[in-house]
Amino acid sequence: MIGSRFSYIGRILALLQVLPGILAWGKEGHYAICKIAEGFLNEDAATTVKALLPDYAKGDLAAVCSWADEIRHNFHWRWSGPLHYVDTPDFRCNYEYCRDCHDLSGNKDRCVTGAIFNYSMQLMTYHESKSTSEWKYNLTEALMFLSHFIGDVHQVCFFLPDLENMVS
Ligand SMILES: [Zn+2]
Repeated sequence: MIGSRFSYIGRILALLQVLPGILAWGKEGHYAICKIAEGFLNEDAATTVKALLPDYAKGDLAAVCSWADEIRHNFHWRWSGPLHYVDTPDFRCNYEYCRDCHDLSGNKDRCVTGAIFNYSMQLMTYHESKSTSEWKYNLTEALMFLSHFIGDVHQVCFFLPDLENMVS
């Protein structure tokens, strides 16, 4: 009985060692997600995306889809860390915006779905800003964040068992 319990725990621990590799899309995952998304853009959207991309992207949205992960640990961008995920209480795989979308300090709207809403709303000002030449937001950053967070929000909800209770 004890042997099978340790065997089960051993398998859990082995799984936990590979989890960091499967819990995040990584650069290739974000690239693939954005490549697929680019194929669904209509002509107007594709033109707008190309207009907003930085020059180094050479018109390829997928080339910048990992940018938000690359800069998140930089001091200047550390504020963006909580925008990459949302935590739900008690390891539940259900989500309620008002309950769950906040950072560790409890600041509302600071989670991945709050960021998607925020950057989507900013990008919706594109045509208005273009016609008045008054840019309220940095829409290049908004596009780069949004394209990344759409990938982040589609990562699987995962559950880590309470190992302490399994051993006792
Ligand atoms: Zn991310």
